[in-house]
This record gives sequence, C-alpha cells and structure tokens, in this order.
Amino acid sequence: MTARLLDGKAIGAGLRAVLGERVAELGFRPGLRVVRVGDDPASVVYVRNKDRAAKEAGFDSETILLPETVAEAELLATIRRLNADPAVDGILVQLPLPKHIDPQRVLEAVDPAKDVDGFHPVNAGRLAAGLPGLVPCTPKGVMHLLAETGIALSGARAVVLGRSAIVGRPMAALLLAADATVTVLHSRSRDVAEECRRAEILVAAVGREAVVRGDWIAPGAVVIDVGINRRADGKLAGDVEFEAARERAGWITPVPGGVGPMTIACLLENTLEAALARRGAAELQPNGGVAEEHATPEESYGHGPGLA
Ligand code: NAP
Repeated sequence: MTARLLDGKAIGAGLRAVLGERVAELGFRPGLRVVRVGDDPASVVYVRNKDRAAKEAGFDSETILLPETVAEAELLATIRRLNADPAVDGILVQLPLPKHIDPQRVLEAVDPAKDVDGFHPVNAGRLAAGLPGLVPCTPKGVMHLLAETGIALSGARAVVLGRSAIVGRPMAALLLAADATVTVLHSRSRDVAEECRRAEILVAAVGREAVVRGDWIAPGAVVIDVGINRRADGKLAGDVEFEAARERAGWITPVPGGVGPMTIACLLENTLEAALARRGAAELQPNGGVAEEHATPEESYGHGPGLA
C-alpha cells in the first residue's frame, strides 16, 4: 500500500479561505497582534507568515517588534496594553524569548480570552478538564487533518509521541475529547516501537529526524508528522522515516507541507473564535471550535461540529 498524502498546504489554504469569507461577513475585522522580541531567524519567518496569512484573510493584523534587549517589565507592559485594547482579539507572543525573560511569566500575562496560542494555564487547564477554551494551534490543525481522512476517531487507538505543553499534551487531550483511546509516549517510555505498531493514528511530535521507523507503522494507519528538523543540507525533515512509512500507512503528512500550514490557519481560526466569543456572538467549545448563537450545529464550525 502507498499512503495517501494529507496535503496540509491545500487543506490549510481551504480553511483560510473559509475563514476569510466569514471575516468578510462580520462587519468588523478581528484584531491579531503578534509580538516578536529580537531577530531569531526562524521567528522572523514564522511571524511574517502569520501576519501575511492574517492580512490575506481580512484580519486586522499587526506585528509588534521589540528589541532583543527589552526588559521583561516592558514586554509585560506591552501585553497589558494589548489585553486592555478592545480592538485586539488575539495576542501571540512568538517563542523563543531571549534568555533574560521568563517565558512562563509572559504567557501567563496574556488575557486567557485573547490567548490565541492556547498556552495560558487557564486554557491548558480547561482543555485538560474537557471545558471550553482556546486550543493550541498545532494540535488543533492535526484534528482538522484527521477530519479530512474521514476515519472515525471514536474508539480508535491513537498514539502520541511527545508530551510537550505545546503539542503532545494538548494533542492527547483533543484526541481523548474525540473519544479516541490515547497512549502518550515520551523519552522514558519503554517498548516505543511496539506501542507505535498498535496505533491506528500515530502523531509524532518529538523533534528528531526519523525517530519513527517505517516498520513501526501499522498497515493502513494515519501518520501525522509534527516534527520539523533541519538537516545539514538545510532541507527540512519530519520525525518519521517518510519513504518507508509511506509504503505501510493509509494516510501520511509530508514535511514540509503537512502540519505546518495548518498551524497558521488555526491561529486565524482561534482569532476569529476569540473575537466572536468576546462579543458574545459564539460560545467556545470544549474541543476547540465555536457554537454560534442561533446557529444549527451544521452552521457552526471547528472540529467539534465539523467545519462548515
Ligand atoms: P519538545 O518540547 O522538545 O518535546 C519533545 C517531546 O518528545 C518530549 O516530550 C520528549 O520526551 C519526547 N521524546 C524525546 N525523545 C523521544 C523518543 N525517543 N521517543 C518518544 N518521545 C521522545 O518539542 P515540541 O515543542 O513538542 O516539538 C516537537 C517537534 O514538533 C519539533 O520538531 C518542533 O519543531 C515541531 N513543531 C512543529 C510545529 C508545526 O507547526 N508543524 C509546531 C510546534 C512544534 P520528554 O518529555 O521525556 O523529554
């Protein structure tokens, strides 16, 4: 079997187009502010891409640039100003931050209602408890990709490699909310290969090239590769041994062009959701997405009720 490719570039573009149409109907432009501290080359690219995608979809997007040497107190004051600004619906502080700044203190300064990265402990806690909140963009994007495959998540055996606060943990919580049977593996796990071989859905978020071998993939499994690893030749590679895995999997994401584009699309989705929820026009759902006031489930969107 050769796996079907889950084309995140196309699926992400489709989601951004839908979001753009919804924004055009709103009568206001949801406001996104991305704060970048310093000139980390990867952050420069990520922030530029986020800003461009937001503007293209009709959002009111601005990037706030602060110097590498900015005092933590000044960054916190910037976040407080954005929290208080009614035109701002979503705030994202690009990581990593310079060493003299405590990232946790910064993430906790963001108003949870504007926390479109979903990293605030209030939102992380709400997700873990199965309560409505803003959900981290990368695992949310993975849920959209899984929806594209049409496979039933309820009762499915899902394995998540990695337990970071940004990817692994929220990924496991979202799969659990979708009624999958979830196993989380990490650097201390035993029998990683055997655990993976049982997975009908395998999500790799480790950050090590080819850590997932092709023969760990169960025939027909859905393989989602979150990893982004830069090779010596400058090219990007995922966590999964792609060519070998492709021969066994039912579906597989490429790197690049798989999960990455979904992350940006879901940042826009979260910003729209935050804007609607803040205005009382919609209610956040436990597994991401919103249910809009007066809307039928079919008219709501997000991977709760399904993307309209
Ligand atoms: P992270 O914070 O470094 O976490 C990596 C996780 O992998 C940890 O939980 C670690 O276990 C676990 N791990 C390490 N070696 C392992 C092994 N041999 N088997 C099983 N688990 C192992 O990384 P992250 O922030 O979650 O990111 C993971 C990858 O996803 C990176 O490549 C990153 O660049 C990529 N990423 C991509 C996107 C995107 O938009 N596509 C977004 C975010 C991240 P311990 O907890 O025991 O240390």
